[in-house]
Amino acid sequence: MLQEEAEDLGQQNFTPDLQKIHSAGKHLLTLINDILDLSKIEADRMELVQEPFSVEQLVSDVIQMMTFPAGDKKLALDRIVAPHLPAVVYGDAQRLRQVLVNLVGNAVKFTDKGGIHIAVVQEDEGVFRVRGSGGNNMEHQKQSAGEHPPSVLLRFSVQDTGIGIPTDKIAEIFHPFTQADNSHARKHGGIGLGLAIVKRLVDMMGGRVWVESVKGQGSTFHFTARLSLQPAPGPEEPLSIERPPIRRGLRVLVVEDDATSGLLASEILKTNGHEATQAFTGPEALEALTRPDFDLVLMDVMMPGMDGLEVARQIRSPASGVRNHAIPVIAMTANAMKGDEATCLHAGMNAYIAKPINPSDLQAVIDKVMLACQAEASPR
Ligand code: ADP
Repeated sequence: MLQEEAEDLGQQNFTPDLQKIHSAGKHLLTLINDILDLSKIEADRMELVQEPFSVEQLVSDVIQMMTFPAGDKKLALDRIVAPHLPAVVYGDAQRLRQVLVNLVGNAVKFTDKGGIHIAVVQEDEGVFRVRGSGGNNMEHQKQSAGEHPPSVLLRFSVQDTGIGIPTDKIAEIFHPFTQADNSHARKHGGIGLGLAIVKRLVDMMGGRVWVESVKGQGSTFHFTARLSLQPAPGPEEPLSIERPPIRRGLRVLVVEDDATSGLLASEILKTNGHEATQAFTGPEALEALTRPDFDLVLMDVMMPGMDGLEVARQIRSPASGVRNHAIPVIAMTANAMKGDEATCLHAGMNAYIAKPINPSDLQAVIDKVMLACQAEASPR
């Protein structure tokens, strides 16, 4: 089932009040993520990873993600990916997807009739030299020109038949907190951070972003990104440790007594490409875990009645009715106190994350836990 379909089905059961909380939570989360991203980039703390991926698949994923919002407005959504693009390129797929989702999301937001068209073409072949900061990139910059691996410069275009942008606003919209027309903010939401982040990410990917637009007729946003055709040569390559693959599509049980926090955690999981089901109490969680529907538990520690530590003990106890006593459990706790981690691990949890959680930290913990559990399940 598509994530959007699942989300839609989930939301059908929401009361109007819960629907409002859900949508407020979603907006808040987008806002927090945007601010975190921008401040990370501004502080030179954002690092791009280099992982193998298929551009064609990435564009399909974006189309799949945006089919529901576009369909909701009866907008056509199609794409053309130039034939003969390299089947596998190396770069930061998640950040590239983020840029594309942002542009397609805006296109949907600012278009009421017609449709959105995504195109990908190859601009040139060259050498991989990523601008920006970060450990990986510094590594690349240290190499001499002759050592740069071969690369391709791809151009992505997102064309819409929407409201367009006045010529005098075009230069401004890539600045943080800038919108072409403030009245749109009230109608469409948003605070003008998306394109500022897009610009910085694209810059880090060795590309540029620009827009052609006619007010009242539509806009075409273009960006380029340089992607390597070879894996990054690490300095210690002969000894290099395999990077754990990024885990997606996990079925996660979120156990949290506070509805809004639970919703927020679920949205973060969905942002990271997982499915989330909520339980509000310990007994409810134990009941859910009698079904084979889950790969992972993300659990609040401080819950009234049966707390997270007790739930974890019950999960591990062979006497409980839980189906998989070895299911990985990640604890969430508000008080990042020394000693908390030991208490959680002692109760049988696999890892610990302090609130407020953010998407990249949570994903890093999930990857670590899933890898460790996999290694335990299949010792060499
Ligand atoms: P937000 O969408 O949150 O306002 P962005 O940085 O993504 O922030 O966009 C800034 C502004 O650029 C928008 O408020 C809008 O005025 C304009 N804009 C962006 N994309 C489009 C588009 N596809 N069509 C028309 N205007 C757009």
